[in-house]
Amino acid sequence: MNLILLGPPGAGKGTQAKRLEQAHGLVQLATGDMLRAAVASGNPLGQRVKGIMEAGHLVPDAVLIEMIESRIGQPDCASGFILDGFPRTVPQAEALDAMLKARGQKLDHVVLMEVDEAALVDRLGGRFSCGACGASYHERYNRPKVEGVCDICGSTNLIYRADDRPESVATRFAAYRNQTAPILPYYKDSGVLTSIDGMADIDEVTRQIEAVLAR
Ligand code: ADP
Ligand code: ADP
Ligand code: ZN
Repeated sequence: MNLILLGPPGAGKGTQAKRLEQAHGLVQLATGDMLRAAVASGNPLGQRVKGIMEAGHLVPDAVLIEMIESRIGQPDCASGFILDGFPRTVPQAEALDAMLKARGQKLDHVVLMEVDEAALVDRLGGRFSCGACGASYHERYNRPKVEGVCDICGSTNLIYRADDRPESVATRFAAYRNQTAPILPYYKDSGVLTSIDGMADIDEVTRQIEAVLAR
């Protein structure tokens, strides 16, 4: 099963992808996590994208397309993957279609997580993440079971993201509206898109997504 979790920054894509990964043996492909790993390592790609990401702009399509193409060809993706953060532009969606076709694969579901902007601001304002595995936490809505320790991988490297500062958040919302929302008609037309109520609590959102996958 191959799926896309789609939604604005803070919609809960990463939180739900981690749950689906564990429940269904799928691989989470989180492009934001991949790019942040490159930035942390200081490699040439990381140096190139650091400023773009911190400002809240999108990284050029060619970089993302190459990254996903090489990733979905790896053996662990053969039994299915969850795209979290990709595609984010029409050219990325078209490139994904072409690469899946070439591999004889298809998309089973595109799940659109709808959350209003006031709630997104509140979520991003209290978000912190695991620097090792990318798991997302929230100061009020989703604290780790043991204070300061990642539930999933046990790392104590819990960090606030530079791009969750209000200056960058506004730019990220604009990028979503102007560059990412235009891919919705593309998936609506092909019949794979289902919208869910991302405003519900984390467990309820998981139930809604599971209901879509069970269809
Ligand atoms: P969020 O989950 O909060 O929406 P991500 O972790 O997915 O954020 O992405 C963080 C940043 O990484 C984006 O603001 C953008 O700069 C870059 N990025 C991630 N995925 C893509 C993509 N598919 N296309 C362009 N830029 C991307
Ligand atoms: P995305 O990957 O779409 O940017 P995240 O999964 O990182 O979003 O979630 C954004 C923030 O909101 C995190 O702090 C997370 O703990 C919290 N969160 C996720 N889902 C919910 C929810 N359904 N209700 C309240 N808070 C949530
Ligand atoms: Zn972790």
